[in-house]
Amino acid sequence: MRFAQPEGPIKGYPLRIDFPSERVAGDNWIVVGEATGLVNPVTGEGIDLAIESSLLGAEILHDDMQFHTRHHISYQRELFHRFGPMFAGLNALRNILVTPLFVDYVLWEVNQYEFLARSVLRIAQGFMSPQSIFHPLFILQFFLPISPRLIAQQIRRIYTFAQKSTTTL
Ligand SMILES: Cc1cc2nc3c(=O)[nH]c(=O)nc-3n(C[C@H](O)[C@H](O)[C@H](O)COP(=O)(O)OP(=O)(O)OC[C@H]3O[C@@H](n4cnc5c(N)ncnc54)[C@H](O)[C@@H]3O)c2cc1C
Repeated sequence: MRFAQPEGPIKGYPLRIDFPSERVAGDNWIVVGEATGLVNPVTGEGIDLAIESSLLGAEILHDDMQFHTRHHISYQRELFHRFGPMFAGLNALRNILVTPLFVDYVLWEVNQYEFLARSVLRIAQGFMSPQSIFHPLFILQFFLPISPRLIAQQIRRIYTFAQKSTTTL
C-alpha cells in the first residue's frame, strides 16, 4: 500500500432511496435492486428488497419470454404495486421523524414512551404497515404526551431560533 497511487479523486454517492421515481422496465430490459431506488429510507437496508425485486424480475422475464413479450411492463406494474404504498408510508414516516418541528419531540418521546420507539422499529422492519401512521389511534398516541408546558418550550425554541437567524442575516 506504501506505493499505491489514487486512480482519481475519491467520490461519494448517496444510497438510492427514491423508489418509485423512474421507469424500471422497457424493451428487453428491467432494473432491479438499489438501481430502482429500493432502499428502505428509514433504515438504509436494501439487500432484502434487491433480492425480492430480482426474484420477481426473473419470474416475469421467464413468463414474458414464453409469450415472446419484449416490453416487460408487467414487472414495473407489479413492482410499483408491491412496494409503492410501503415507500409512500416510509417516506412520510421519515419526513415526520426528521422535520425540525418534531425532531426534539420525537427523540424525547422515543426515550420516554415505548409506543413510538416500538412502532418505528416495527414499521422499519416491515412488521407493521407504514400506513398505520395515518391511523387516528396512532396520531392520538403520538400527540398524547404533549403537555402545554412542552408546547410553550417548543414555541420559545422556534422563536429564539428565528430571531437568531434574522440577526445573523
Ligand atoms: C455502508 C452501507 C451499509 C449498508 N448496510 C446494509 C445493511 O446492513 N442491510 C441491508 O439490507 N442493506 C444495507 N445496505 C444497502 C445494500 O448494500 C444495498 O441496498 C444492496 O447491496 C443493493 O444491492 P444491488 O444488488 O441492487 O446493488 P449492489 O450491491 O450495489 O450491486 C451492484 C453491482 O453492480 C456493479 N456495477 C455497477 N456498475 C457496473 C457496470 N457498469 N458494469 C458492471 N458492473 C457494474 C457494482 O460494482 C456492484 O457490484 C448498506 C449500504 C451501504 C453503502
